[in-house]
Amino acid sequence: MGRKYRLYPTPTQEKVLTEWGHSARALWNLALEQRQYAYQQRQVTLRSVEQGLHLTVARREIAWLAELPATVGQQVLRHMDLAFDNFFNASHPAGYPQFKKRGHKLKVSFPGQKVKIRKLSRRWAEICIPKMGWIRFRLSRALGGVVRNATISKDGVGWHVSFGVATGVKPLPPVDKPGCGVDFGVAASAYVSTEDRPRQMPASLSTTEKARLKHLEQKKARQTTYAKKHQGGQYSKRLRKTIAQIAKIRAKQACRRRDFTHKLTTELAKNHGYVGIEDLRVKNMTKSARGSVKNPGMRVKAKAGLNRSILDNCPGERRRQLEYKCRLYGSELRAVPAIHTSVTCGNPACGKVDPESRKGCGRLFACVHCGFEDDADHNAAVEIDARARRGTPPTRARRTGGSVNNSTHRRLTASSPGSIRRRMREAQTAAFE
Ligand SMILES: [Zn+2]
Repeated sequence: MGRKYRLYPTPTQEKVLTEWGHSARALWNLALEQRQYAYQQRQVTLRSVEQGLHLTVARREIAWLAELPATVGQQVLRHMDLAFDNFFNASHPAGYPQFKKRGHKLKVSFPGQKVKIRKLSRRWAEICIPKMGWIRFRLSRALGGVVRNATISKDGVGWHVSFGVATGVKPLPPVDKPGCGVDFGVAASAYVSTEDRPRQMPASLSTTEKARLKHLEQKKARQTTYAKKHQGGQYSKRLRKTIAQIAKIRAKQACRRRDFTHKLTTELAKNHGYVGIEDLRVKNMTKSARGSVKNPGMRVKAKAGLNRSILDNCPGERRRQLEYKCRLYGSELRAVPAIHTSVTCGNPACGKVDPESRKGCGRLFACVHCGFEDDADHNAAVEIDARARRGTPPTRARRTGGSVNNSTHRRLTASSPGSIRRRMREAQTAAFE
């Protein structure tokens, strides 16, 4: 389980953490380059164990490496092992590990046994990290387990520390409640088949925040134009400040969206025997959302903050959450073929598929065969529920790519060593282009 808290480093600590973050990123790039070089020149696959030895030697000579705590460096290399493992795992959607640019999210990771945590009061705690000492964090919820790793990161709002915690919680026995079907709206809503109105995501920004964001965007545009015209494109301190202010609002917005998604998926998983969802082509949809995944180094194609904030609530993310939460709460996630759910009549006695029933872009579904009328999204949710209850996909499902497999990951196909070599070759050439 992951736990994330606001971290409050002192200005001195902040400076050092920023430096470490950049060093860790530089080390990642260096290590990736070394692995690619070793493979190209000698067809050797380097792993963290071997690179760790190189790192130990390099730390004696390179100052910025020596300043970075040794465990952080080791952790970077371990993450790279994982990134490559995921890439070569045919059932994992991860792409080839990428180099990290300067603007990449600052992250410093420690293994759990290298950090100490102590509680200060009901609301405050401290973490002790190597070469730095104690940093306070806001204990907004109980840790509830053994810390396996700790990652310090920074976003528009400020610093955070997140822990991987082994809670030892066993999955609950199957929920003895009726199931439901859910039709997810484009970005901000979900319609549950057993309810009579959609669950709308509350506005992620207040009116004043929206106005402020607009004002800041205009200010940024003005300052950027000025910088281009008079300073040869060099950003002024004021422009940087404006950018940080925008990032802060965006980060808040993303936070609220995430909150909505988590509450929605938890509620669904907790209170339903099964949850039926459409089996959409998640991989295509998360293609540009890879930056929203929290694991460092796993999918490092980070996108702009704006993108990320929208995609925090994307179908792939909702499904990912439902997958582990359903397992945890004893519910069952059933992905049903998405084909024609919006034009199938929800009336159990009818069930005819006809695009005519869904005239125009209106919210109304009116069956042309039996006269059944319903909200279009609710009708779709009912149809999804019906398909989930039946369990077996219609015969067309196979051909259209649907599956009842409850996994976002690609189906595990037996890949021959040849195909792995081909994938690696392709990726290597792609990385060098
Ligand atoms: Zn009908």
